[in-house]
Amino acid sequence: MALLGSGGNGIADRALDEPRNAKTVVDLCGYTMNLILQERLFRSYPLFYRKAGDELSECPIDCWGIEVADGWFELLDRLSAKLELAITDLVAGGLPLDECPRAAQIKQKFGQLQVHIDYMDKLPNSIDSDLSLAEQVANETCEKCGKPGTVRRTNWIHVACDQCEQRRLEGADNGHVSKTELDHHFRALTALLENRSKGGQ
Ligand SMILES: [Zn+2]
Repeated sequence: MALLGSGGNGIADRALDEPRNAKTVVDLCGYTMNLILQERLFRSYPLFYRKAGDELSECPIDCWGIEVADGWFELLDRLSAKLELAITDLVAGGLPLDECPRAAQIKQKFGQLQVHIDYMDKLPNSIDSDLSLAEQVANETCEKCGKPGTVRRTNWIHVACDQCEQRRLEGADNGHVSKTELDHHFRALTALLENRSKGGQ
């Protein structure tokens, strides 16, 4: 099964096998969405968040889950609903499931939401405006808590509200997960994906 850490030479293998210091963790992983929220998305939108047909897939979302913080859950929920509907139409129209669009990676880069989708070309053009809207909303939403935020151009560009940014500057939150959290995340996500691949949606 193409679960975390499988698939040969993937980044997840290195992350699991090699001892990591704080810097490696920061390089490898910024925010990660709370697993309960991730699972809610996976369960609500099983087509968009399905596992790849290719067992050896090294798709980032299969290794890392959703790589943005909880504050962007709501906007991802709305976007995923649109995508799920579009994929449902494609399946109803006879497109084989393994050629249907699916989430490949969801992350934040330079304060921008990035949603990478496999087989993106199969989606109707109307999805472009849904994606643009989600990116625009993300750009004005604190990634940590979901309140209105602005892009902070510090050494790490991100979107934060005043309160979360203050906490970060005070050192209460460095914006990244710790090694312990990351290890826990890997184990929990592996279990979640294993369960899903057994049909335990
Ligand atoms: Zn905030």
